[in-house]
Amino acid sequence: MQTITILGATGSIGVSTLDVIARHADKYSVFALTAHSQITALALQCRQFNPKYAVVSDAAAAASLQALLAESGCATEVLWGVEALCQVASDDGVDTVMAAIVGAAGLVPTLAAVQAGKKVLLANKEALVMAGGLFMQAVAESGCVLLPIDSEHNAIFQCLPTDYSSAVSSGVKKLLLSASGGPFRGWSLEQMRSVSPEQACAHPKWSMGRKISVDSATLMNKGLELIEACWLFAVPAQAVEVVVHPQSIVHSLVQYTDGSVLAELGNPDMRTPIAQALAWPQRIESGVADLDLFDIARLDFEQPDMQAFPCLAIASAAARAGGDAATILNAANEVAVQAFLDQRIEFTQIAEVVEQTLNGQVLSEPESLELVQQSDSAARLYSSSYIKRLEK
Ligand code: NDP
Ligand code: MG
Repeated sequence: MQTITILGATGSIGVSTLDVIARHADKYSVFALTAHSQITALALQCRQFNPKYAVVSDAAAAASLQALLAESGCATEVLWGVEALCQVASDDGVDTVMAAIVGAAGLVPTLAAVQAGKKVLLANKEALVMAGGLFMQAVAESGCVLLPIDSEHNAIFQCLPTDYSSAVSSGVKKLLLSASGGPFRGWSLEQMRSVSPEQACAHPKWSMGRKISVDSATLMNKGLELIEACWLFAVPAQAVEVVVHPQSIVHSLVQYTDGSVLAELGNPDMRTPIAQALAWPQRIESGVADLDLFDIARLDFEQPDMQAFPCLAIASAAARAGGDAATILNAANEVAVQAFLDQRIEFTQIAEVVEQTLNGQVLSEPESLELVQQSDSAARLYSSSYIKRLEK
C-alpha cells in the first residue's frame, strides 16, 4: 500500500489524482490532503478518502473545516500554515507526494518532500522554474524519485532510456515539446488585445485551473515548460524545440542522433500522466478512454508564432540568461496573470509586464532559498507597481 499526500487536492490536478486513486483502493491510501480556498470541497474529499491530515492556509479556514468535519463525524486532523504543508509532505508515514499547488506557493512544501526523499510527482512547474538549480541539487542530495506530471515532460520521460543521465551519453539530439497553441492559435496580437478572462480560460483541449489556462493562452506555459524541461532532463535551452500540435494527441517527442524520433500519444487527459507516475515502473488503469487513431485521423504540426505570442520568446531568453532570470519571469507572470484575471490589465499586457520587470532587475545567482525568495519578492513588487502605472 502506497500512502499519498496531495498538495493542492482541490485543484484540477488534485481532483484527477483522487479519481485515479479511487480506482485502486487496494494500492493507494491517502495520508493528507491540502487546499487553500475551497474548504467545502476539501471536507467532501476528507469524508470520501479519510486522510490522517487535512491542511489549509490559515486558522480561520482550519476552524471552518474542523466544523464541517465534526458535523459528518470525520476523524481527519486539521492543520494549517506552511509548516504544516511541509510536515505532511515529509512525514515518515507518507511514501508519495503529489505536488499540485499552483504557483510559487508550492515551492517550500515541494522542496520539503524532495529533501525527505519522498517519491515526488511534480505538477507544480513553477517550483522548478523559480528555483531549478536548488531544486535539482536537493533531488540529487536526497536521492528522491522525481517524476514529471506535466503531460509533455511525462511524455519525454517515457521516451527517454530508463538509465538516462545526460543527453550526450544517451544520444538525445533534441526534445520536441508539444504545444496545443491555446485558444488563440492563429490570432494576431491586435485580435487578442481585448479578450476576456473567460475566453482565455476556455482551453480547446485541456481542462485546467485558471492560472495555467491563461499561461496556455499566452504561450507562457510553453516557456515555463521549456525551462522545466532544461532542469528535469539536464539539457540546454537550445536542445528544446516547441512544436505546435493542435490536436494535443502527441504529448511530446525525443529526437535521437540516429534519426529515430520517439513520441508518446494519448487522449488529452491528465489522468494518464498521473497514473503513469503513481504506478511507475508498473502500469495501472487510469479511466482515460482508449485512443482511437481512426477517429483522430490526422495530426498537424506547425511552428509557434513568436510575434503574436511574445511570452514564449521572453521565457526562452530568460532560460538562456540563467541566474535568477527565470525566478523573476515566474514572479512577474504570476502577478500579471492575476491582474488580467482581475480585469486590471489587458491580455496582451501580460507579456509587457513580464518583459519590463525582467528589464528592471539586475540578474544575480540564486544560491540559496532566501536569495530565490528575495528575487521573487523584488520582481513581484516591481511588476505590481508597473501594473499600477498601466492602470492610470
Ligand atoms: P488549480 O488552480 O486548479 O489548483 C491549485 C491548487 O492549489 C488548489 O488545490 C488550490 O486550493 C491550491 N492553492 C492555490 N493557492 C495556494 C496557496 N497560496 N497555498 C496553498 N495552496 C494553494 O491548478 P491546477 O490543478 O490546474 O494546477 C496545479 C499545478 O499543476 C500548477 O503548477 C500547474 O501549472 C500544474 N499543471 C497543471 C495541469 C492541469 O492540467 N491542470 C497540467 C500540467 C501542470 P483551492 O482550490 O482550495 O483554493
Ligand atoms: Mg503541460
